[in-house]
Amino acid sequence: MQSMNLEEMFERGEITVGRKYTAIDPAVKVFECTCGKPDCPIAALRPFRDHIKALRGVIITCGQAGIIPYVESVQDPWSAITYPLVMAASIDDVFVDPYFVDDSDAGLWCDAAWEAEEADREDASKYVAALTIFNFVWLAYEAAVAQVAGDRFAKDKVPVRARKILQDAESPAPLRKACRMFYLGGRRLCTGTGRLEERIEEIESRFGLRDEAAAAELGRLFRNHVVHGDDPIPAHGLLSSSAIPRFYAIARMLLVLIQQLVRMHLLDPRAQINLSPMLDEESEPADWALAHLHLKEDHWVRRADDGCERPED
Ligand SMILES: [Zn+2]
Repeated sequence: MQSMNLEEMFERGEITVGRKYTAIDPAVKVFECTCGKPDCPIAALRPFRDHIKALRGVIITCGQAGIIPYVESVQDPWSAITYPLVMAASIDDVFVDPYFVDDSDAGLWCDAAWEAEEADREDASKYVAALTIFNFVWLAYEAAVAQVAGDRFAKDKVPVRARKILQDAESPAPLRKACRMFYLGGRRLCTGTGRLEERIEEIESRFGLRDEAAAAELGRLFRNHVVHGDDPIPAHGLLSSSAIPRFYAIARMLLVLIQQLVRMHLLDPRAQINLSPMLDEESEPADWALAHLHLKEDHWVRRADDGCERPED
């Protein structure tokens, strides 16, 4: 039998067989209920990817119903928003090998080195997945802000326009509650980030921002922190336990803000829309759907409770 070269096996991906994780595991774990209480707000949430899928679907069906303006002559009404959402929801695994650049081959001959390298691969894979998904959600968020803002605050950068637009947003209770939960979770997960943490402290204490405006500011600060290269490098066991979960908490906060932005732009909030662009099964008033779609459907489809007044038909 021809001797097998380990490096060749690795390049062919055979050595990754048997991985005990997928890169998007943290997107599930961070939103897992650990209390078991029947009214737990975390347990009521849709899974993360389903949330993105539901949001993309409702934006499209709002377009089909003619209650948001088509901005391009393409199939989807707001493709600058919906396409990044498709990309964010599409990622189901990523494999990253930081040792591609390492010529030492230490991991091929030493068990301890191999285990350390595998841990780094896992951290790096999860980090790249989280960063990539966050980036696509951010693209959708910026596109939603630009769409809804129109000519308002045109001299400001898009994330600042978002804060100003959302400052006076009158959002329904389920949206405000979810926004607050992801905002507080995101804040907590940014503890220990130095300058970012200091600036986050000022959102409420110095600038007096609240609710959606505070969330928009957290999103802006975190995104700047990431794109300016201030986030720690995910290697050699240096990644803190909150480094990956915060991408998902803040991405989810942005999804809720997109829901609110679309609500603000509805031409007829009470119009009945399908919940899926393809299936003609469930329909709800557009405003009701956008206020709840982050929640599992049994919490709101064909129901009228939890503090959000159901519009008259
Ligand atoms: Zn719980």
